[in-house]
Amino acid sequence: MLNVVIFGAPGSGKGTQSEKIVEKYGLYHISTGELLRKEIEAGSELGKVADGYISKGQLLPDAIIIKMLANLLDTIPETRNGVIFDGFPRTIPQAEALDTLLAERGTAVSAVIGLEVGEPELIDRLLKRGQVSGRSDDNLETIKKRLDVYHTQTTPLQNFYKESGRYRAIKGTGAVDAIFEAIARELSACL
Ligand code: ADP
Repeated sequence: MLNVVIFGAPGSGKGTQSEKIVEKYGLYHISTGELLRKEIEAGSELGKVADGYISKGQLLPDAIIIKMLANLLDTIPETRNGVIFDGFPRTIPQAEALDTLLAERGTAVSAVIGLEVGEPELIDRLLKRGQVSGRSDDNLETIKKRLDVYHTQTTPLQNFYKESGRYRAIKGTGAVDAIFEAIARELSACL
């Protein structure tokens, strides 16, 4: 069974490549950002809390996100056949919690796919996406804040996963299909 974390800065292509990974390996896709945006749309209590953080480019508190993840793993049977985690974990406590949650369920993270893209290209992609996405966080000020948050809170995860031999660096620039081929080579080696 494969449990994959897709890792990278905002705009690195995690969502795009996750869709292709789902198609080829039949994994269940968990995108924390997408789930939170659905909560905002639905006007739920969680959505109201999430909106305050997301529109400022800040991360939600670890406890909220970890509880959401535990709940999904418990209530969605398909997650037992393998998951692609997109946008989670984003902090060291989240990564430690993920290891514990999976260990409790008799499984583990098989590989972490790290999409590597330079900052000017990330900003360019996010601004372009902002013209069509309608996302409250795809504007220059919030994009810069999200990249700051990524550098301070999320990049330490690279070492966390490198030290345990799970990190696979992938060049995240060029054609979408060529990037996916590089990912598939890594994932097929885990099967
Ligand atoms: P991107 O990777 O392009 O920033 P996401 O859709 O993954 O987009 O996340 C959007 C926002 O949702 C984040 O900036 C953050 O506010 C919130 N969010 C998503 N996942 C998490 C998480 N694991 N922990 C805390 N906040 C999160």
